[in-house]
Amino acid sequence: MNQAVAINVNDAITESPLYNLQETSEEQVNALFAACRSAHQDLRKYTVAERCHEVHKVLDYVLQNRDHIAARICEETGKTLTDAVVSEILGVLDNLEWNIDNAPKILKDQTVHTPITLMGKKSRVYHESLGTVLVIAPWNYPFHIAMTFMMSAFIAGNSVVFKPSELTPMQGLLEEILEASPLIRNSVKVVYGTGVTAQRLVAARPDKIFFTGSCATGRKLLKQAADMLIPVDVELGGKDQMIVFEDVNIKRTTAGAVWGALTNAGQSCTSVERLYVHDSIYDEFVTELKAQFDALVVNAGDKGDADIGAITADFQLDIIKRHVEDARSKGATILTGGMVTGDQGKFYLPTLITDVTDDMLLASEETFGPTLPVFRFSTEKEVIETSNQSEFGLSASVWSKDLDRADRVARALVCGAVSINNVMLTEGNPALPFGGTRSSGFGRAKGAEGLLAFTRSKAILIDKQ
Ligand code: ADP
Repeated sequence: MNQAVAINVNDAITESPLYNLQETSEEQVNALFAACRSAHQDLRKYTVAERCHEVHKVLDYVLQNRDHIAARICEETGKTLTDAVVSEILGVLDNLEWNIDNAPKILKDQTVHTPITLMGKKSRVYHESLGTVLVIAPWNYPFHIAMTFMMSAFIAGNSVVFKPSELTPMQGLLEEILEASPLIRNSVKVVYGTGVTAQRLVAARPDKIFFTGSCATGRKLLKQAADMLIPVDVELGGKDQMIVFEDVNIKRTTAGAVWGALTNAGQSCTSVERLYVHDSIYDEFVTELKAQFDALVVNAGDKGDADIGAITADFQLDIIKRHVEDARSKGATILTGGMVTGDQGKFYLPTLITDVTDDMLLASEETFGPTLPVFRFSTEKEVIETSNQSEFGLSASVWSKDLDRADRVARALVCGAVSINNVMLTEGNPALPFGGTRSSGFGRAKGAEGLLAFTRSKAILIDKQ
């Protein structure tokens, strides 16, 4: 008999208790998978367009209930209202709309080339659903990741088991939204629990797993899935570089660095975590950036004036402190910030750091906080080489008026996405594929590739009788 574990969920800032959850038992997991497998059989009766029509009901519900949803997101994450609305709610609306408009075309059966040696025959490709897929999510974008993965998987014809992070389960909210369509409610299930629950869900043999989270957990999951040969797409974080050449508009580009490094208090896998500035504008750029960092208001989301919200997880705050202290002790200059602020101990000041060397944790490990180490460079070749020497490769940005140069650098960077003269924009466009390389993971979410990742292609060759 498995011991049921209770999980206490608290307000991210005040730590006042919100509710308790019971870890899902092995028996419950098995019953859930049986229900999802049966729901998948039912789903096969519907066309892609019909499933999109159901997702439209969810989209409408999110739009109509945006204030209530934003309040729940802020409560459990401590993020600002701007972060909740822009990156979570608007991001979901954009994504669902794009999927509804494009999935029927992307998932359509195709007739493809038949060679002369097979003359008279016809070749077709069907994009079939996988079955029951498992989605495991982290705490930094608990709404965006939940809704986009669940709905894309459903549109592609799968039933879905979704496990939110135990830190931000938003208990009941996702189910309430899914109620907008009885068909979706029947095919998409939310399960609560910790890593123990996640392991039970994997053991139930989903047809594919979509994991977003830390490298360490991703590795554990991949090992467990490998034993059962379950395919897995993983998105594991980053150490994204922003590369600024000498010909940029400094005001506009520093504003980009502020947004890139500090949105969601830096708790984004695509946060700018390394800023490379050309030697000839370095001093001016850093002075302007410091002024912008100093002008930011760090506060709770419901205070209205907040630019930077809380650090959701205490263990994450410890990592931020450790990285900054390590840099300080090895000779880095903390130009501004570098400490916790506020009475609750949940906020960290926007922190700008120079004189960072390769041996510092800040230079190589993911910090996932409102910190920005700045490096100098003098040539295009040098910045490509040094910035590519990262264990990670999720996304990057290149800033220059010379678009040929920006494109050349974008092509040379080892990562999954590059924004040119802007930052973190690629993942804001649901038509673009999202995902990384190296330790940032593999597989692509969003775009046509993201939808096709929820399918298995079947080859058909038709001959005459
Ligand atoms: P993060 O700190 O980014 O949330 P984690 O990797 O710790 O990163 O957690 C991401 C998700 O993975 C959470 O939903 C967590 O419960 C889940 N998880 C934890 N342990 C495992 C495991 N062994 N296998 C699969 N998922 C796990």
